[in-house]
Amino acid sequence: MPINKSEKPESCDNVKVVVRCRPLNEREKSMCYKQAVSVDEMRGTITVHKTDSSNEPPKTFTFDTVFGPESKQLDVYNLTVRPIIDSVLEGYNGTIFAYGQTGTGKTFTMEGVRAVPELRGIIPNSFAHIFGHIAKAEGDTRFLVRVSYLEIYNEEVRDLLGKDQTQRLEVKERPDVGVYIKDLSAYVVNNADDMDRIMTLGHKNRSVGATNMNEHSSRSHAIFTITIECSEKGVDGNMHVRMGKLHLVDLAGSERQAKTGATGQRLKEATKINLSLSTLGNVISALVDGKSTHVPYRNSKLTRRLQDSLGGNSKTMMCANIGPADYNYDETISMLRYANCAKNIKNKARINEDPKDTLLRQFQKEIEELKKKLEEGEEISGSDVSGSEEDDDEEGEVGEHGEKRKKRRDQAGKEKVSPDKMVEMQAKIDEERKALETKLDMEEEERNKAKAELEKREKDLLKAQQEHQSLLEKLSALEKKVIVGGVDLLAKAEEQEKLLEESNMELEERRKRAEQLRRELKEKEQERLDIEEKYTSLQEEAQGKTKKLKKVWTMLMAAKSEMADLQQEHQREIEGLLENI
Ligand code: ADP
Ligand code: MG
Repeated sequence: MPINKSEKPESCDNVKVVVRCRPLNEREKSMCYKQAVSVDEMRGTITVHKTDSSNEPPKTFTFDTVFGPESKQLDVYNLTVRPIIDSVLEGYNGTIFAYGQTGTGKTFTMEGVRAVPELRGIIPNSFAHIFGHIAKAEGDTRFLVRVSYLEIYNEEVRDLLGKDQTQRLEVKERPDVGVYIKDLSAYVVNNADDMDRIMTLGHKNRSVGATNMNEHSSRSHAIFTITIECSEKGVDGNMHVRMGKLHLVDLAGSERQAKTGATGQRLKEATKINLSLSTLGNVISALVDGKSTHVPYRNSKLTRRLQDSLGGNSKTMMCANIGPADYNYDETISMLRYANCAKNIKNKARINEDPKDTLLRQFQKEIEELKKKLEEGEEISGSDVSGSEEDDDEEGEVGEHGEKRKKRRDQAGKEKVSPDKMVEMQAKIDEERKALETKLDMEEEERNKAKAELEKREKDLLKAQQEHQSLLEKLSALEKKVIVGGVDLLAKAEEQEKLLEESNMELEERRKRAEQLRRELKEKEQERLDIEEKYTSLQEEAQGKTKKLKKVWTMLMAAKSEMADLQQEHQREIEGLLENI
């Protein structure tokens, strides 16, 4: 349901921060590294232990959601990403960052293994979700989905979908549209297969010019942006367009340079790459500080591009990726502190309704104009058309249609002709040509004149037909870009969408079970506390009783010894009496 402008909701949400810890890899296992991280998904905590003999106590951090080494891609999607994509489909902006040291699973989380449905990451799953939503939308809704993909390397912006990979793009700003990348290409996509092709192209271009792909990708930031425009009739009867922009960001590795020991060119690169990363850190600090009046977005390409994502108009999630092994202790702790800080960023997201320059509106306008033009027909020189008898007849037409036709004839004597009419005209030309050939009594000159005239008419007709065809092609290309809601465009993504939904339902079940377990756990804990309390009071009672008992016992003992004394005395008295007798 479109939202009325006056009641446009603004949602104040903090940046959601989730942490994902990958499993120990083969190399770490073979080198007998120890697991230093433990994840409690139920409580949302990550605990990092020092495995050496330093006796340092473990450190625990709490987050919105945490994922352990066994976590599933589909669960990561459904638990943390799904709500953001749902918002983007409503017209909010969204951003998802993957942040962490190289090799901790950022790319695995964002892209995953595309060939294996269960291992697909956030980007392919978002597409399945988006096209699933479009397929279920009502018929009068129109969508336009487009994608761009860029890389920031060495503070230079490269269009990963651009034709010229040597070109570097500029970050610009305009008061009406905000920050944008000049000349960045955007591909309109119709289904999830298109997305797959685009990702492959982007990957291919990412490695262009990179001598070492791993090194390159760990030092560059990749931003995959999906823009969804959706037009619907509002309560006011007018069409309204909403536009949601989603940035999916795979950041450069967060490792500190000191550790990697870079020098020379590599150090220069690292400093520049770190400029984007360190500015990101400074932006976060300024935002959570509360006292800062200046947020240094403009200091790096990354933070300029993502200005809205932090502290602005966006629903944002940051996935902090960490490794489990003890040799990463320092990096892991600093990552968790960073992530902990990012939790405090407050964003204000609102639905982008009827923004300027929506492509959907522009395309819809062009489609309407093309349709009108096609309906009107093509212009053909009037004298040629009126050469046919039928046209003479039509000129005599009365009523609305006839009036229109008369009006369409312009000063130059040109007339708009429909495609059907063009077919008729061609038939007429063929007929006249045949008739001309059978006319034997004609002068050569006259015949040639008639032939030339026929040829001209045919040429004009052909030109009009070609123009008509090219308009039809233009229309079809435009119509393909605009997706009609409810049309099943899922293609291969359908299965992925099913997989996602099934897994979401399963997750819901698990969530319910976990909630039940949590309740039971709480009850048990309460029971235990009650028992402990009872036990304590019983113990106190017992202690009290023991004390009393001791007292009585002492009294008893005293009485006993008194009795014994008395008895002895008595005995002695009896014995004395007996002796006297
Ligand atoms: P990054 O992009 O942060 O440098 P990658 O995503 O390339 O790291 O991950 C490094 C390796 O670890 C890859 O081989 C990847 O498949 C594997 N990996 C990462 N996260 C996981 C996970 N959660 N489960 C299984 N394997 C993972
Ligand atoms: Mg990576």
